[in-house]
This record gives sequence, C-alpha cells and structure tokens, in this order.
Amino acid sequence: MTHWTISVIHGDGIGKEVCAEGVKLMEAVAARCNHTLSFHEYLAGGAAIDETGVPLPDETVAGVLASDALLFGAIGGPKWENQPQHLKPEAGLLKLRKELGAFANLRPALVYDELADASTLKREVVQGTDIMVVRELTGGLYFGEPRGVEGQGASRKGYNTMVYSAEEIERIARVGFQTAMARDKRLCSVDKANVLDVSQLWRDIVIEVSKDFPEVALSHMYVDNCAMQLIRDPKQFDVIVTGNIFGDIISDEASQLTGSIGMLASASVGGPVGFFEPIHGSAPDIAGQGIANPLAMIGSVEMLFRYGLKQNTEADMINAAVRKTLADGLRCGDIMQEGCTKLSTSEMGAAVIERL
Ligand code: NAD
Repeated sequence: MTHWTISVIHGDGIGKEVCAEGVKLMEAVAARCNHTLSFHEYLAGGAAIDETGVPLPDETVAGVLASDALLFGAIGGPKWENQPQHLKPEAGLLKLRKELGAFANLRPALVYDELADASTLKREVVQGTDIMVVRELTGGLYFGEPRGVEGQGASRKGYNTMVYSAEEIERIARVGFQTAMARDKRLCSVDKANVLDVSQLWRDIVIEVSKDFPEVALSHMYVDNCAMQLIRDPKQFDVIVTGNIFGDIISDEASQLTGSIGMLASASVGGPVGFFEPIHGSAPDIAGQGIANPLAMIGSVEMLFRYGLKQNTEADMINAAVRKTLADGLRCGDIMQEGCTKLSTSEMGAAVIERL
C-alpha cells in the first residue's frame, strides 16, 4: 500500500466542475488498487483574488511544493479581466508554473476510434494516432537574452535570441527518452539543425543522451517536415521531443488531430512536483451548467498516475475505462454524435468510474 498527498486547485468556472470529477476518479482508483490518498485544496486564479486579493497566495506554493502532485482545474473569467496585469488570474498560473520549475510539458494527442470522425482530417489518416509531444517549457527563444526593439522609424530593429545550454537540452532529452520508455520506445527529436547552430547542439546532445537509453529507437526530423508529417501521417510518431517554440506550434497542431478541446490533457514535469491539468480554460460560456466534458481532466488524472506517481497500471486502468465509456456510446455535448447518449459532467465522471 502506498500513500500520496495530492494538491488540488479547482480554480474558476468549469475548473471546479471537472476537478470534482478528477478527485472522485482518483479516490476510486486508489480504493481499487489499495492505495491511500490525502487531498489538500489550495486557491489560485480568480477564486484566490476574491478570497485573498492575489492570484497566487504564498500558502498555495508552499502547500503544492510539499505534496506529491498537483491536480489543477482551470482559472480565469470575465469577472477578473480588468485587474492590473500582475493581478490577473493568469499571472498566478504562470507564476505557479515557474515556482514549480516544470521545464517539460507533455501533451498527448490521442485519437479514440469512436471520435475519429470529430477530427477535421479524414478518419483513415487520424484513426490510431497516439502521440506524446514533450516540449521544453522554460528556455529557448521565449526566454533568451538579448531581446528587444531598438532604433527609430524605418531603421527600428526587433530581435530575440534562441539559446539552449547543454544542460537544458540534456534534461529535456532525458524526459523524452523516459517518456518513450513508458510507451512504444520510439523518440523523434525535432529541430532545425540544417540552419540553426542551437539546433545542431540540440541534436548532438540528444544523440549523447540516447546512449543511456539503448532500447529507444531515436530519429531526427526538421521542424518544417514535422509540421507536414503530422497531418500527412500522424501514426508514424510515438514521442516527439522538441524545444520551446517548435513545441508550442507542433503540440497545438497535434492536439487538433483529435477533435474537441474537452478531451485534451497535459502534464508539466521536471521540477519537484508535477502539474497535471486539462488544456482548456474555465469556459465561462458553459460554467455552472454541469455540461463541461470532464474527459480532459480524467486524462490529466491518468497522466498524474503515469508520470507523477509512476503508476502505469492505474493509468492504464483509467485509459481502458475511458475507451469503454466511449465505446458504449456515452458522450458529453462537445463530442455528441448521432445515436449516442448525452451525459452531464458528473454523469460522465460516474460512467468512467463504473467502467474501471
Ligand atoms: P476555454 O478553453 O475556456 O474555452 C474555449 C471554448 O471551448 C469554449 O466555447 C468552451 O465552452 C469550450 N470548452 C472548453 N473546455 C470544455 C470542456 N471541458 N467541455 C466542453 N467545452 C469546453 O478558452 P477561453 O474561452 O478562451 O478562455 C476562458 C477563460 O479561461 C479565460 O479567462 C482564459 O484566460 C482562461 N484560460 C485558462 C487556462 C488555464 O487555466 N490553464 C487555459 C486557457 C484559458
């Protein structure tokens, strides 16, 4: 029997609704697998502003850092839109990511057979797609110095710097290889080594790290080709590892192979505590109606078990239950199809638990 402490930040809007389903699922999985969990709830985002005046109270950071993993709903909403920039809900989320030192963002793009028609691409292209994009999150072009705009008039010049240290590349490469080890053992490193010096270093270091993972089949692909291959033949990929800006673009492209935002989970790992959250926001347009799709949150719980607590059996159990739920024709409004049964948020959460 293992015991874990899980931090929970419900946040705002549908964040609260889907988080409730995530917690119920974790309790159900723990009970079936003979684990015990304790949940500690913390404030962030709009709820934290209302209660404490700031979007990320110190207590939240300290509490999360003392736990084994963080389950996060979503934050934000029109009520807080006119706050000064540093007091907006989103400022709290960015600060929390930074405090947790989560340098690796994992985003799965999994096309369930039952939902293959929800993609804008043809069923035969997307069916069977199961990709994990591992994106470096705290370095590269978005953080490099020098940066800025200088000069006057027509001679103004804007610039950013794409910079990676060997250390930064090595640690994200390791996450890529470890992720591949937990899956189909195929890793594609995406770069632009034909043009960029920083990419050549990236490629050299990835090759060095590969010596520690002889079971993983490593390939390299230029980012422009990768963008094309993702829509031409997405099934060729297992795990993709790439830098910050390439990963930003590639992970959005990959996620759209799958259909609805209500299905997409994510994990940010590499720091002391992993951060697991759906990629969607607080959806103020449907908040409070009990109709949000909790499957993105349920996928985040699967990732929490797999990458946060290193429990593959529990993660596989959740994945199988979701597949069974979809195969049984159960849907939320965002993925509703003819002949299926439409469920509310809590009904969908219960349906997955029933099928564990
Ligand atoms: P959103 O993701 O909240 O919603 C976009 C659209 O998708 C909406 O029509 C919404 O109803 C729908 N949708 C989202 N999740 C769904 C689900 N689980 N089931 C069914 N439909 C779903 O994005 P937005 O409307 O641009 O942003 C709303 C608020 O959320 C803003 O304040 C924004 O800053 C914030 N936000 C927060 C996060 C986060 O907490 N990580 C991420 C993105 C946006």
